[in-house]
Amino acid sequence: MSSPLVLPSDGHYWLKNAHIPPNLVKTKVNFPENFQFPRPWEDLGLYHLEIADGKIKNIVAVGQGEESDLVTDDGVPRVDLSKRMILPCFVDMHTHLDKGHIWGRSPNVDGTFSGAIASTERDAELHHSPEDIYRRMEFALQCSYAHGTAAVRTHIEMAGQKSQIAWQTFQQLRQAWADRLTLQGVAMVTTDYYLGSAGEKLADQMAHGGGILGGVAYAGPQVEAQLTRLMTLAQARNLAIDLHVDENGDRRSRVLHQVAAIALKVGFTGQIVCGHCCSLDVQSPQQVQQTLALVKQANIAIISLPLCNLYLQGRHQPQKPAWRGITKVHAIHAEGIPLVFASDNCRDPFFPFGDHDGLEILNQSVRIGQLDPPYGHWCATVNQTPAQLMGLADYGRLAVNGPADLVIFPARYFSEIFSRPQGDRLVIRKGKPTHKKTPHYQELDDLMGA
Ligand SMILES: [Zn+2]
Repeated sequence: MSSPLVLPSDGHYWLKNAHIPPNLVKTKVNFPENFQFPRPWEDLGLYHLEIADGKIKNIVAVGQGEESDLVTDDGVPRVDLSKRMILPCFVDMHTHLDKGHIWGRSPNVDGTFSGAIASTERDAELHHSPEDIYRRMEFALQCSYAHGTAAVRTHIEMAGQKSQIAWQTFQQLRQAWADRLTLQGVAMVTTDYYLGSAGEKLADQMAHGGGILGGVAYAGPQVEAQLTRLMTLAQARNLAIDLHVDENGDRRSRVLHQVAAIALKVGFTGQIVCGHCCSLDVQSPQQVQQTLALVKQANIAIISLPLCNLYLQGRHQPQKPAWRGITKVHAIHAEGIPLVFASDNCRDPFFPFGDHDGLEILNQSVRIGQLDPPYGHWCATVNQTPAQLMGLADYGRLAVNGPADLVIFPARYFSEIFSRPQGDRLVIRKGKPTHKKTPHYQELDDLMGA
């Protein structure tokens, strides 16, 4: 099992006997509805994939009558994966690359949300320069790329003196990395910002710069006016909205409900996603049901950030740890609301760990969210679902004529992939192995003052 895979250098080959969750495969002949998988709790289909010209040329569901095509010697080399798992490249839909990798100089020693905000603001005042932001953001992208990510969305602080530095740096990186990663940027302000003329200017800037409108919406008497204004600005410019809401354990915080109600009231037609939604988990079953029904009706998607919120939430309780801090992922999924898991912060005062690895996000989400088999639909939360929400139709799934951007893991089953780190995975982009390693931490030592 552990022998390294060698793929033909011309990029034309068959990958035989790969284990893939069928819901991530788009092919003409897939497994029928009532197909009995050998281990039903694993819901992994066995497939052969033909790769050519950077694309997936053919996908054969093994045992579905098309194997004879493979038996005929077509002269194309075959690489037997012996049930190794394949997933489409990851899509990381919620990150904060402008804040990332500053823990070495700006920690948050009490681990609270308020401590994180204070430490991050101090760091921005002291250190943010174009070079500082560029190098930390690029470090993050190198991690993402090495782990097998295809697209990343990041929130970027857009209020305050130095805000333009981060946005311009992001634009430079987006261009420099265009042939490797698709990047999307979201303007991050508190939503009161949109009430003034600066908010309109920001909306114009996002419209011209290919950005998304977003921010943090705090519960309070003004939030309805703020959200209405935000949606009006976004609608007029055809912009998507990506918000932080209810990142707390206060049952009175029902901003998710307000976002959905206002979206329906103003007839917002674009894409809205709401991140965190932690307080939903401490509200009454009736409130949860009401909110989720409205969220569904308003076509809003939810992003859960389990690693960060497990770390950050519930710290004021006398008997910590007492709360996982994440939103009602099972109820959201059961309601048919699109659900995404993503990185959020990495190695900064909001979360001191993380490596921009989609597999770690999925693996930890399975544990934190008590996600049970079948796992295939939970896998879609880190590739297919975020890709659709980000308007990247070709990403996050394996389709005939789609890009051959995929990750081959040493693990054969979910029970194996969720048990070992899978650092020796093979990332294939446009049909060819990329063999990139994660960057060394020493690369940022001079920025950390050590
Ligand atoms: Zn966030």
